[in-house]
Parts: sequence; C-alpha cells; structure tokens
Amino acid sequence: MPDDSTIKKVVHATKRCPECFTYVRLDVKKCPECKTRLGVVEKHGMAKRKTNWMSYVSFFIAFLAFAIYIWWEFLS
Ligand SMILES: [Zn+2]
Repeated sequence: MPDDSTIKKVVHATKRCPECFTYVRLDVKKCPECKTRLGVVEKHGMAKRKTNWMSYVSFFIAFLAFAIYIWWEFLS
C-alpha cells in the first residue's frame, strides 16, 4: 500500500493567496494585494496562511465533511 503523500505529490509553479486568490510566486512570503502572510503551497495550489487559526477550523470542517461523506458512502 503506497503512502498517500507519494501518490498525491504535485509540483506547483505558483501559489494562490487564500484571501484574494491572487497568483504569486512560490517564494513570496506576503501577498502583494492584501498583505496576508503566506506559507508554503498546498496540494491544490493554495498558499497556507500563517498563524491564522481560522485555517485550522476550515481544515477541520473540510475534514469532517470528508469523513461524513466516506461514512455515508459506506452506509449506502
Ligand atoms: Zn491576497
């Protein structure tokens, strides 16, 4: 069984600001449009927000929705 991280590895040339969806270079630390601090690029090309715990909440909600979806699939 292959590790999840090896099969889903995607190389991005740019990342997107999670606040205003501006495309920036991968090494940009701060969005030129809205001044949001940007972290590393994620799987879908979106930059990680830094020290903004709303991202943890939205991740948790997304994970929960995914878990409910999987659970639903197995029941039906
Ligand atoms: Zn921005």
